[in-house]
Amino acid sequence: MTAALPAADRAPGALELVRRIVNTLELPSGPDELGTLEQARAWCLSYGLAPPKDERHVELLRDFRETLRELLFANNGEGDAPAAWERMRPFLASTRLGLAVNPSHGLELMPEDKGPIASLLAIVYESQLLGTWPRLRACRKLSCRFAYYDHTKNASRAWCSMATCGNRAKAQRRRQREQLRRPL
Ligand SMILES: [Zn+2]
Repeated sequence: MTAALPAADRAPGALELVRRIVNTLELPSGPDELGTLEQARAWCLSYGLAPPKDERHVELLRDFRETLRELLFANNGEGDAPAAWERMRPFLASTRLGLAVNPSHGLELMPEDKGPIASLLAIVYESQLLGTWPRLRACRKLSCRFAYYDHTKNASRAWCSMATCGNRAKAQRRRQREQLRRPL
């Protein structure tokens, strides 16, 4: 067995849910756990989230997932973080979040609608406050972009797995360098 233990990828607390929704689609071509209305409803219910009502909601949820993936890719030093945050705007416009009192720890951001997007946005916001957000990443290999939480001391983990993505990417870079060095 060369696969990393699942615990090694796991994000702390509720942030794990964000990691899991990103990984509902296995790139580059599936399977997709949010592929149909039925699947998306089952996935949401299994995590205590309000299920999408119709196909349009599922499409929105899949779009939201890919926006999250862009952000996690940016957390890994790839892509364009400001552009990914811009992509978040319409999702905020379609949900409602407000402050609520939680007697055990004060003020808390609370979704005012029960949809999965509002709940996930509240988790992202909380994670930014806690400082855990930059460590939630998507693998640097474009065709993989599997989401994992970087538990390394110096926050230096760039790949979901060194054995699959890391080594292959390094070998590819080496080949590219060699080609560049080759005389014309
Ligand atoms: Zn990977």
